[in-house]
Amino acid sequence: MAIYLDNSATTPVRREVIDEMLPFLESDFGNPSSIHSHGMKAAAAVKLARERVAGLLGCMPSEVYFSPCGTYANNVAILGRARFVEANDGGRHLITTSIEHPSVIGPSQHLESRGWRVTYLPVDKDGIIDLEQLKNAIANDTSIISVMWANNEIGSLQPIEQIAKVAQERGIYFHTDAVQVPGKLPIDVSKHSFISALSLSGHKFYAPKGIGILYLKQGENVMPTAFGGGQEMGILPGTESVPNIVAIGKAAELAASEVFETSKALVNLQRILLEKLMPIEGLRITGPREIEKRLPGHVSVAISGAEGESLVMKCDLKGISVSSGSACHKGIIEPSSVLRALRLADSEARGSLRISAGRFNTIEECEKAADLIAQIAAKSAKTATAN
Ligand code: PLP
Repeated sequence: MAIYLDNSATTPVRREVIDEMLPFLESDFGNPSSIHSHGMKAAAAVKLARERVAGLLGCMPSEVYFSPCGTYANNVAILGRARFVEANDGGRHLITTSIEHPSVIGPSQHLESRGWRVTYLPVDKDGIIDLEQLKNAIANDTSIISVMWANNEIGSLQPIEQIAKVAQERGIYFHTDAVQVPGKLPIDVSKHSFISALSLSGHKFYAPKGIGILYLKQGENVMPTAFGGGQEMGILPGTESVPNIVAIGKAAELAASEVFETSKALVNLQRILLEKLMPIEGLRITGPREIEKRLPGHVSVAISGAEGESLVMKCDLKGISVSSGSACHKGIIEPSSVLRALRLADSEARGSLRISAGRFNTIEECEKAADLIAQIAAKSAKTATAN
């Protein structure tokens, strides 16, 4: 049986989630906008899902918006806010980081092409921003700060509470991409009440692909970036994907109720993987080495002189699914922008590997995978030295 250790890329859909969504693909297929009984049943299911997501986030249901995916939620959080800023003659300066997901980097670059000034904060060797640098970057025209909570490639956690406080002290809208967080760390926006907007994606926490969440704090304005029938308060219009919404609602409920137990189990698996991989010569951990600074279950490494895609294929041949942040572009292995931001030498960054455990992985699986990956890594590191 293949061992799946790529849960930061996507997770399997949980049985409990499938069971709840199936009736909405079969008998209960109504459109929530219809006023007949089919429609009312669908609308009630959407309402329940919104309440469950609000339970996961510690917010009001009216602050939860369903979106087609995490990418859309990030785009609306940034571009929708930028539209509002522009409409109100606000300052056109955005602060983000150099290690964001492309769905934050993309809208940031789009704003740059429209005349906005964008600051991409650097990160330290662990992939964490410096609060003083953030404070120094804030100017009179800063209108948006967007900093991810947990990095998908290197697992680094940002000091979200402090960042949110800095933004709040200066009265600046603060968005965080929290796509990697649900089910691994508790999220409570009522505690971090300075978060203006937050994005999630269902397929990272055991719901299907193609459904996301935008949390928008009451009173924070964003303007639509697409136009249609006015669903989701007009911010994310389009007929609701009821089965997917039901699914993310159930997944949110499970994630909230199991987070402490899951997080503990994932940290245990992470320790097993780290302990077996760390002693290998030529291999270094990318992102934080201290477990409390990392996303639970997430391990990322760089093997000097190796090539990421080839490592992934070698692992696949041994029955282990993992991923790499380095990809082949026009015949050349290029490290990702995240690995570049860590200022690793290209020869090291090219050999990146991400191993991300999920709630269905067992200790035996992680021990077996770690031994096999250790063999592959040791061989690759040796071959690279010989070359
Ligand atoms: N943000 C982060 C940190 C991610 O890891 C991902 C997915 O890989 C996304 C955003 C995009 O989410 P989606 O795949 O739902 O568009």
